[in-house]
Amino acid sequence: MKSILITGCNRGLGLGIVKHLLNDRNPPKNVIATCRNIEKATELRQLAESNKTLRILTLDVTRIETFDAFSKDVQSIVGDSGLNVLFNNAGYSPKSTRISAVRPEQLLDTFSINTVGPIMLTKALLPTLKQAAAVNESLPLSSAKAAVVNMSSILGSIALNTDGGLYPYRCSKAAINMATKSLSVDLKDQGILVTCIHPGWVQTDMGGSKAPLSVDTSCSGIASLVKSLEEKHHGKFFQYDGQELQW
Ligand code: NDP
Repeated sequence: MKSILITGCNRGLGLGIVKHLLNDRNPPKNVIATCRNIEKATELRQLAESNKTLRILTLDVTRIETFDAFSKDVQSIVGDSGLNVLFNNAGYSPKSTRISAVRPEQLLDTFSINTVGPIMLTKALLPTLKQAAAVNESLPLSSAKAAVVNMSSILGSIALNTDGGLYPYRCSKAAINMATKSLSVDLKDQGILVTCIHPGWVQTDMGGSKAPLSVDTSCSGIASLVKSLEEKHHGKFFQYDGQELQW
């Protein structure tokens, strides 16, 4: 894997994945980390100052009108090698979403960030992903060739939903799971692997302090899973530790 782009990297899991990739024994040539507000991304900026591998780009995944210009910036970083991995990580989960309290704007905002953004960003970056797949034509499906990884959640699993509620979040993640499956069908012939990952329940702003997993443990698993992606992961749903999950 020469290049990877990860969204939502100023905090939480995005920042953790960036750190693991940079500290890898065999780091990618380009780690492109996006955030909404570069001024506030202090830790990410500090990392970039001491590491030329890391490039920071500004991106709000709901601002689809900016994606054309954004993909040109990505193309100018990765050049003719193309982009090997797009990791749609940025996400959102609103509070108070029981059936008695849920509001339409919570559903729409959450879909916009967790579902519409990743699908449209994948569409915008397809030319550079295809370029990476073509350059590495002789390789089997893998992250060394070309891959799209969507950050999902076990809360998006229909089979594993025993607690109900969380309408915006659960529905948006079930929808990104479906998008993952459709993309896996559509992009296989073009040599692009597509998968989705549940990071575990992790101690971030979203996961909260009661979560059992540290960012480090989850991101260590995610980083090694991303590096080892192969045909068996294509069009499927995996946990950070490599265990397959039911849709
Ligand atoms: P955090 O709340 O800690 O971080 C969310 C990240 O997404 C931030 O960088 C945030 O940026 C970014 N983001 C939110 N809205 C947008 C937007 N419109 N455009 C661009 N970036 C945006 O969450 P986590 O790190 O925990 O979550 C990362 C991913 O993992 C999400 O997809 C989440 O659903 C998933 N996940 C997390 C679990 C957990 O237990 N933590 C469990 C299962 C899944 P900003 O700082 O600007 O708001």
